[in-house]
This record gives sequence, C-alpha cells and structure tokens, in this order.
Amino acid sequence: MAAKFSVPRGTFDVLPADSAARARIYLAAARAFESAGYKRIETPVFEDTEVFERGVGSSTDIVQKEMFTFEDQGGRSLTLRPEATASICRAYVEHGMHKLPQPVKLWCWGPFFRHERPQAGRHRQFHQIDLEAIGTDSPLADAEAIILLHDLLHELAVPGVELRLGSLGSIAERVAYREELVAYLRSREAELSDEVRARIDQNPLRAFDSDHEGTREVMRGAPTILDRLSDSDAEHFEAVKRLLDEAGVAYVLDPTLVRGLDYYTRTVFEFTSNALGAQSALGGGGRYDGLVAELGGPEVPAIGWAAGIERILLALDAPVEEAPLDAFIVAPESQRERALVVATEARRAGACVDLDLAGRSEKGQMKQADRSGADRAVILSDDGTARLRDMRTGADRPLDLDDIVGEIERERDEAGL
Ligand code: AMP
Repeated sequence: MAAKFSVPRGTFDVLPADSAARARIYLAAARAFESAGYKRIETPVFEDTEVFERGVGSSTDIVQKEMFTFEDQGGRSLTLRPEATASICRAYVEHGMHKLPQPVKLWCWGPFFRHERPQAGRHRQFHQIDLEAIGTDSPLADAEAIILLHDLLHELAVPGVELRLGSLGSIAERVAYREELVAYLRSREAELSDEVRARIDQNPLRAFDSDHEGTREVMRGAPTILDRLSDSDAEHFEAVKRLLDEAGVAYVLDPTLVRGLDYYTRTVFEFTSNALGAQSALGGGGRYDGLVAELGGPEVPAIGWAAGIERILLALDAPVEEAPLDAFIVAPESQRERALVVATEARRAGACVDLDLAGRSEKGQMKQADRSGADRAVILSDDGTARLRDMRTGADRPLDLDDIVGEIERERDEAGL
C-alpha cells in the first residue's frame, strides 16, 4: 500500500539503520569537547525573528531568502533557527554569562532549518554540531576551536579533509577594505554577472564566490583583505597560524574565504572534503567580535564554528555496525512471563538482552534470535531450567539463570573481548 503521507521536501526521517553512525559522531564530539572544557547548551528551535536578522546579518542569503519565518497566534514573528551562533549569543546575554569566568565555552548539537534547494548534502532540516568560545580575543581560542574540529574529523576518519584559513580583519579595516572593493567592482562593473552587480553595495565580498567567468577574471585582480590587515590583526593571524603549525594542523591560506554570515571578524576557516560533490563544506566558522554587542550585550569577542552532520556522514559513506546483543531469550508458552523477568534482571545487571513480544512459536523465536544478530540464545524450558546456545557454533550447554550475566562475562573473558 502506498503511503498517504511523506515528509516535506528537503527533510528526512532518521531510520534505525542510520542512527548508529549518527550516535558515533555525537559521542565522539561530546567526549572531545567536554574533555576540553566545553559545556553543552540547548537553545529553542524557534526564536524571535530579530535574533537572526541581527545575529546572522540582514544582507546574508540566510536572512534574505532561507528562513522559515511564521507568525504565532499573538502576531509575533518567529523563525526556525537557521544556525546556532546567534541563539547562543542571545542566551549568553540573556543569562548574564559575561559575569562568569571568561571565556564561556559552549557546544551544541541539533536540527537547523534553511529553505534551500534540496540536493545531496543540502537539506531544509539538517543537523549541526556547533562550538563557541565567548569572551576572549586570544588566538589560543581560535586555534583551540579549529584543532577540536580538525581532531574530531580525524578521529571519525573523514576522508580527503582540507582546511582553508583566512582573516577578515577587524570591523574598521573591513569597512575601509569594503569601500575599496566596492570602488574596484564599480570600476569593472560591465564585466560582472548581473547578480554580483546588483549586490555590489549590499555584499561586495560575495563577488569572490561567483562562478561567473567574467566576474572571476575581475576578482583575480581584486584587492584582498589579507593585504590590508592592521598590525594587530596581522599579528593575531600569525599567532593562529603558528599555533596550528605547532599542533600539526595543515591548512591552505585563502585570502578570498567568504563565510555566509555577516558578523565574522579576523579568523575565518572552512573544512572541506574531496569525498563530497558540489556541497564540499564539512563545517566552518570564525571569530565574531561584534556579535554579542549587536545582540544587546557587552563588547565581548568570540570564536566559533558549525559542522554539518549529514555532510560528515556523506563523506564517510560507511555503515556503522551496531554492537550485537549479548543474548536473545527464547521461551516456551509456559515461560513467557518469566522470560521478561530474566531479561529485566539481566538488563539491570548491564547485559544487552532482547526477547519476543509478539507471541511467536519457539521455532519463530529462534529465527528471531538469529535475525537479531545476538551472540547467544538463552533457551528456557517448561521445567524451569535453561540452556545457553552459542549462535555461531550452535553449541549448547546448561545455564544457571541466576548467573546469566556472570556467564556472559566469563565467555567474553575467554574470547579475549
Ligand atoms: P554554515 O552555518 O552555513 O557555516 O554551515 C555550517 C555547516 O553546516 C556547513 O559546512 C555544512 O556542513 C552544514 N550545512 C549548512 N547548510 C546545510 C544544509 N542546508 N543542509 C545540510 N548541511 C548544511
């Protein structure tokens, strides 16, 4: 029978077969970030639209065309979060976190929403891991954040990873540089694509991203921000590069690296994988020294990044095996209720155990035990005794039900597991 309903375009179900690979990423991230002093934060899935308009930037593609915005019953404009940084900074300000010892180091994991054209690696609901260090301008924080994402991708064995690194300078230099770039683009206006020309004043940096041949030619001669950094920004950038070198993190300098968000200052970076197609970005971020103030907080510098879970999975393209069950319990009719008692006791003692809940015959239960991938079957008999069967060899021996977990552990020890 054909399904009557299906998920909205650009969204997807995470089915049980996909969840082990996702859990592996989550657990690796949680372990790495918590052991580096980052604490997990969760913010709402929707917020006042203005948080994103201000926090992402009104000239960005995200705010101009990709937000899922709706009015609630009280006429307030709300938006499904398109990214995490603005929400985390809103939370930092709302909860007075500037009074805590700085920096405040946070990370999060969850769904995000953008109205984009769906394709491989690009969805309308996708998932990100996000990491932020708010309240320090030290290049150590930039390097730490980049190293943590680098090491996570390495631990997960994501193939073909490359790190592109740049600096956008501080806001004052960026403004001066922007004017210079606008003037340069105006002087070559006729050669640019219509889209770039229409947005020269709004977002001249995006011209570096264009794949229009005429525009690319113009951009080859364009001034870059790396040539215009102030001494202190250049020094900051040198320190970040030195720290990455010392940590053995390779990078490619990219003076034209343009991140999609308006608020970046100084360091910007992006990790890509050559195992991905057109959507090659695994994750990226940078420093956003003006954002907390933009959201009504104190002048507080910060650095952060976001990485896409679906992109990481796509680059990995390898199924993750779930840990097998220790045992599947097979019971005759008279022992059905006892089977749940045995399973519960074994589970409470730490074993992974399953049993039939659908009234199958013993033969059906054996089949189910086989299908479940369990290492063993615990077979109960009408007389209250039990046997332990090795599902690989079929060998069968008596089992003391009070010691089911001890028995499994002894077997594991013998097998050297
Ligand atoms: P951004 O917040 O745009 O810097 O995105 C950070 C990362 O999230 C990107 O590098 C992608 O890995 C992932 N990402 C962004 N947008 C999408 C999307 N629409 N679908 C899937 N992943 C995405």
